[in-house]
Amino acid sequence: MKLLTDLTLSELKELMAAYGEPSFRAEQLYLNLYAGKDFPEMTNIGKGLKERLAADGYLAVGVTILEHYVSREDGTVKFLFSLSDGNIVEGVLMRYKYGNTLCVSTQVGCRMNCAFCASGLEGLKRNLTAGEILGEVIAANRYDGGNASDRKITNVVLMGSGEPLDNYDNVVKFLRLVNAEKGLNISYRNISLSTCGLIDAFDRFLEENIPVTMTFSLHAALDEVRSSIMPVNKRYGVDKVVDASKRYFARTSRRVVFEYSLIKGVNDRDEDAAALIAAVKGFPCVVNLIVLNYVKERGLSGTSRKDAYRFASTLEKGGVSATVRRTLGADIEGACGQLRAKYIKKTD
Ligand code: SAH
Repeated sequence: MKLLTDLTLSELKELMAAYGEPSFRAEQLYLNLYAGKDFPEMTNIGKGLKERLAADGYLAVGVTILEHYVSREDGTVKFLFSLSDGNIVEGVLMRYKYGNTLCVSTQVGCRMNCAFCASGLEGLKRNLTAGEILGEVIAANRYDGGNASDRKITNVVLMGSGEPLDNYDNVVKFLRLVNAEKGLNISYRNISLSTCGLIDAFDRFLEENIPVTMTFSLHAALDEVRSSIMPVNKRYGVDKVVDASKRYFARTSRRVVFEYSLIKGVNDRDEDAAALIAAVKGFPCVVNLIVLNYVKERGLSGTSRKDAYRFASTLEKGGVSATVRRTLGADIEGACGQLRAKYIKKTD
């Protein structure tokens, strides 16, 4: 499989030059690709060129919307995206006052195997290419009536299935593609990358100078608790993650976010709050508390909303900013990997 959306504009220009096409052709093609058009819809591109690209194994569209579900509560749209080899990933479009945020998947499945997450239930199937991750954004943008010049998706979060830093090269290329001026031109400020804390890869990422908002999935500030729910903690413990977040702030001056999904009786106790305060107090960050979404196969339950607010106020009193995340799309299985798992089961 060769995807045209994997190419940057200059790579596309090289390809068109190699084909002996005039120089404006690359941009024409690029605009069609970013509008989500497949070859038959590209009316300004000649049949000969389209046939040649197809014969050389190039696909214009690597991601299509297989199914979508619209929340009646808040307009959130959950997408099941189909990849060209038949694999399925999820995306979620959330509507906020400041714009539309698309949550994208970076891998089919995940190998991190966090104890509460549906994405890792069957391990990692494969990485998405940069053009496939971009394809999710292009497909959702088109779904909302947008194209390259009239952009409907304003923000992207890498918080779908997969661990972005475990698919390093593709994710970095995706960030550059989605930020490209003539493409969707989504500013790095409007992109959040969430990681469970692969610190070696993170340190490489620091050198890329891509100032996205960094989100660290902490979920516990006591090593024994974090190790019990996140196997990655055995390699990169709480201190290493918090230190990394401080390096990010020192480098970018961007306030980091810690994700903390509250699991009843596991990481929502007073000592958990105290450890978290001790770990991040005085550091410009925000703790994003999420009430755990129940995943049947995992069996862990979320803290009640009331206790989540109590946990947040304990943090605030301890000098740590905390927010309790609104639950969007609760009626359409908003949490990572849930919908794909269900769909696969249904069609098996
Ligand atoms: N692998 C990356 C990004 C994917 S998940 C990471 O670990 O950050 C995005 C966020 O959703 C992470 O913080 C993840 O821990 C959290 N999450 C996963 N399953 C969840 C669930 N069932 N309920 C609440 N949050 C969950």
